Amino acid sequence: MAKSTEEQIKCSFCGRDKRETAVMIAGITGHICDRCIQQASRIVDEEMSTRLRDSVLGNVNLLKPSDISLHLDEFVIGQNEAKRNLAVAVYNHYKRISQKDDVDDDVTIEKSNMILVGQTGTGKTLLAKTIAKILNVPFCIADATVLTEAGYVGEDVESILSRLLQVAEYNVEAAERGIVFIDEIDKISRKSDNPSITRDVSGEGVQQGLLKLLEGSVVGVPPQGGRKHPEQKLVQVNTKNILFICGGAFDGIDRLISRRLNTSAIGYRSKTEEGEVEKENLLQYVSPSDLRDYGLIPELIGRLPLIGFLSPLTPSALRRILTEPKNALVKQYIRLFEMEDIKLSIDKDVLDFIVEKAMEYKLGARGLRSICEAIMMDAMYEMPSMEEKPEEFKVTLDYAKSRFDSSTFRKLRAA
Ligand code: ADP
Repeated sequence: MAKSTEEQIKCSFCGRDKRETAVMIAGITGHICDRCIQQASRIVDEEMSTRLRDSVLGNVNLLKPSDISLHLDEFVIGQNEAKRNLAVAVYNHYKRISQKDDVDDDVTIEKSNMILVGQTGTGKTLLAKTIAKILNVPFCIADATVLTEAGYVGEDVESILSRLLQVAEYNVEAAERGIVFIDEIDKISRKSDNPSITRDVSGEGVQQGLLKLLEGSVVGVPPQGGRKHPEQKLVQVNTKNILFICGGAFDGIDRLISRRLNTSAIGYRSKTEEGEVEKENLLQYVSPSDLRDYGLIPELIGRLPLIGFLSPLTPSALRRILTEPKNALVKQYIRLFEMEDIKLSIDKDVLDFIVEKAMEYKLGARGLRSICEAIMMDAMYEMPSMEEKPEEFKVTLDYAKSRFDSSTFRKLRAA
């Protein structure tokens, strides 16, 4: 009577019957159901992040760069070089913060802000965001393109810190240990060949404005953001211990790198004095001089001493992004359907199809989501109001193709 034994199986933690659960895993002497696994996983995550935070900020056994990198692996696929660089930057940064003031010598560890260079959608923001999450420090993203030199229309550079203050719930001390990601830093490059006699409002002036934030100084921050109005009381924030990570796609910088490395555009690999050069991914050789030639001022580059690069995402990386990260898209859809009591499964060849389309439309990782939405939209619209919802929903390649072909996404892109 196998069936009746099956029915007697209960979760050893919550006591739920096997029939009330989606998955029941057997151990040596007991069972655990999917809900208890999820709950236990949440408890472990919370506990780990508390321990990490205490270790990082409390100067008790600092979290090692390799550990930081391992945690990044849970959310970010590939980009190992960038992870290593970032992990070291963060490790040294928080070591510097926790340095005792009474050390009686002239050695002071200098601040090491970082710049990440890589095509859009390769994970620059995700890396910065994830590291802030791991460390549990306030984090904000600022867009360099909305900033202008003081006195011009646009946001003052100090407004970047308004966001950090808001995230830190106006706890200035917490904000002063936070991480700021300044996106699109390449868009404020100096346009030296601009013949206009008016000042370069969006470029060099903004870079100059950023210097004082990056190097560490006390700045007056408008708590509500925007411009500094005389009636708005400014909050004094010391940026000495704020870690700035800048990101940019630097379109066309590969030509500057190639010129410097003296490689011709023919062939996949070529030899230079520095050895063999892999031409498919020249960004890995990016140097401060390339950033200068691109239009960043030397003073700004000096305040971003660490340079990391992100490689373009390959189809196999995109494929992994769909399913592997903790917050992977496929996991999110499964959860959404689970909340409707529907067990979603997506065939493997559907995942390959999604990657193929993302590559075809040159959308990188950013495109994965829109393509998934195009495929899942009808089901997500119709299933919740069905009188008799199916227990399972299996997305097959034929289904995915038919939904994708009739989607507005496809029509918009084809137009
Ligand atoms: P960038 O800042 O380089 O333009 P993002 O970090 O904003 O790109 O990436 C856009 C989205 O693409 C992210 O939210 C994430 O879902 C996905 N993504 C990009 N790169 C990766 C990666 N290496 N691993 C996992 N997900 C990624």
